Amino acid sequence: MNIKINENYDNLVQNYLFTETARRIREFSAKNPDKKVIKLSIGDVTLPLTKTVIEAMHKATEEMGHQETFRGYPSEYGSDFLRAAISKYYGTFGLKIDDEEIFISDGAKSDCGNIVDILGDNDVLIPDPVYPVYMDSNIMSGRNIELLPGNIDNGFLPMPDGLAKKPYVIYLCSPNNPTGAAYSREQLVEWVKYAKESGSLIIFDSAYEAFIQDKDYPHSIYAIEGARECAVEICSFSKMAGFTGTRCSWAVFPNELVVGDKSLQKLWARRQATKFNGVPYVVQRAAEAALTPEGFKEAMDNIKYYMENAKLIADLLTEKGIWFSGGVCSPYIWLKCPKEMDSWTFFDWLLDNAQVAGTPGAGFGAEGEGFFRLTAFGSRENTEEAIERLRKLL
Ligand code: PLP
Repeated sequence: MNIKINENYDNLVQNYLFTETARRIREFSAKNPDKKVIKLSIGDVTLPLTKTVIEAMHKATEEMGHQETFRGYPSEYGSDFLRAAISKYYGTFGLKIDDEEIFISDGAKSDCGNIVDILGDNDVLIPDPVYPVYMDSNIMSGRNIELLPGNIDNGFLPMPDGLAKKPYVIYLCSPNNPTGAAYSREQLVEWVKYAKESGSLIIFDSAYEAFIQDKDYPHSIYAIEGARECAVEICSFSKMAGFTGTRCSWAVFPNELVVGDKSLQKLWARRQATKFNGVPYVVQRAAEAALTPEGFKEAMDNIKYYMENAKLIADLLTEKGIWFSGGVCSPYIWLKCPKEMDSWTFFDWLLDNAQVAGTPGAGFGAEGEGFFRLTAFGSRENTEEAIERLRKLL
């Protein structure tokens, strides 16, 4: 063939993180068949969908099998009932988001990755370490990327101090994957102020907002005055209601997001209508059920379970005097590797000596070197056993 391909793909860094951790665990288990490895590396929910969600899915499935209630293509923007339910959810935080500002999607990953379609060749600011999709999707589009380094000094919550006042596309992830750190209200005020003064756009990934347990940490960027004029928000049912395998999320494009006479909401609507055919009816009904009082209570019970795991891990690290972030508003706990070990040395050391697996921080960005991610998504039993092993070792 003689076609031209997108050569920006050559610039992607091969990320062997999860294949390499899986390979090392497999190799260890093959050599030590009598030793049980506990994975505190799980980045996926493990509790099943809740009763209310499953009932709604069954009911919607039944509807699809009858002539009178069968549905074909859903709306590309999301069904009215789910957009209304999400608008109502924002209302519980005292925020007014209109139904038309909400776009339903099959995952926050899709929206985080696809938003580059409607943006031009801007300089892009991305925290380091962070969820890799922002970086990779911008590399694929050939954008110029500047990193916002996270470290112990800033609590892995980089701020705009010292940045040039130029129009950037800024990705913020709060609570953050992998560091578990969440921006406080005051910090988000600073970011919104910076974005407005510099003419920048914030893409706010709030996929873990449901884990926030402290009122000083906003669940939505729109809790900050002025954010409607400078921020898109992307959120998901994945971690909130266990939809990682079911797939449903949303993005908010407020009416105020305009560049000259062009509306970002209209561009996104056009993009979705052209490239996306909507989320299955059954899944949208399930997502709607997750936001009913009963469904939401069940979702929060599951989150409570994970957060109790997180607290057990956090308490152990406090007891051992090991620096960490997260575990309070997030299922992730991000710790400084003891004894100045680098991320992969610590991974091997933990596996060899305690048969506990985590995720090396270096895999999430250069600033993650020397750090390590543990997650609260395991069972209570496994988490407790892992903690006992770590208590003896650390
Ligand atoms: N954003 C962050 C920060 C994540 O960690 C993840 C998944 O791990 C996603 C988005 C993707 O979510 P979804 O399952 O909705 O695609």
